[in-house]
Amino acid sequence: VINELLTAMRAAQERREPVYCLGAGFVRYVDHMGNDLSIVRAARVSYNADWRSGSDDGKDAKLIAYLLRHQHTSPFEHVTVTFEVKAPLFVLRQWHRHRTQSYSEISARYTELDEGYYVPAAEQITTQHQSNKQMRTATVHPQAAEMRQTIVDACDAAFADYRELIRCGVPRELARSVLPTATYSRMFATANLHNWLRFLALRSHEHAQYEIRVYAEAILAMLTGIVPHTMAAWEELNAHGKAST
Ligand SMILES: Cc1cc2nc3c(=O)[nH]c(=O)nc-3n(C[C@H](O)[C@H](O)[C@H](O)COP(=O)(O)OP(=O)(O)OC[C@H]3O[C@@H](n4cnc5c(N)ncnc54)[C@H](O)[C@@H]3O)c2cc1C
Repeated sequence: VINELLTAMRAAQERREPVYCLGAGFVRYVDHMGNDLSIVRAARVSYNADWRSGSDDGKDAKLIAYLLRHQHTSPFEHVTVTFEVKAPLFVLRQWHRHRTQSYSEISARYTELDEGYYVPAAEQITTQHQSNKQMRTATVHPQAAEMRQTIVDACDAAFADYRELIRCGVPRELARSVLPTATYSRMFATANLHNWLRFLALRSHEHAQYEIRVYAEAILAMLTGIVPHTMAAWEELNAHGKAST
């Protein structure tokens, strides 16, 4: 099953198909440089070994697992991956804290934004966690459906104001100030593999907000299509709480 999934993932990447997250949001593979072999080649430079290409009787996978376990991280910096991401502004706000990624984002000064915003599914509208002040509980809010409608109404009203301000000649760079943080934006994000793994350790963790976690999980699956040995070793460490952050 895993091999079938990997084959499907590689085919999807070939066709640049988006993996949808949060309704209209997505992650789409754009480009990459390097693979598992680039990592072991870079590591073997340390002991002046010759370049190799091709099969290795499992030695490459073992070396990659060793490097990750011992936080010998620089070989992972020789792989670079770019994703296109469409996500609500509040998710991108968290994402941009990862300063070791390079970003290019759509300009709401240059272009009028499409009317598109994230509405959480009713089962995601739970209640505020009392002891962990950052988090929500798993208990669905008793009026989740009404609360969801309140979000829709507020976003619709904000977009109506946005369009009206633009119609009246207000510059786009100011009209956007009325838009909610649920508004979808789009960016390219590029990082080397070491920093993608760091991003995943923080953002696929159960303490990360659900809305960024779904993107981290999509990226994890797409990286598995690019560097399968690395992701298998990383997931093994992560399962034991030992993945590097
Ligand atoms: C669950 C969760 C809750 C969070 N809550 C908050 C919050 O309430 N408020 C808030 O402001 N942020 C919050 N953050 C963001 C967090 O503080 C980090 O900014 C974010 O996770 C990026 O991590 P990073 O700095 O390791 O990543 P990157 O910016 O990619 O940096 C990677 C590493 O490079 C080094 N580095 C990069 N820049 C510098 C620098 N200027 N100086 C020194 N070393 C540097 C550090 O070793 C850093 O760990 C939260 C993050 C998570 C995952």
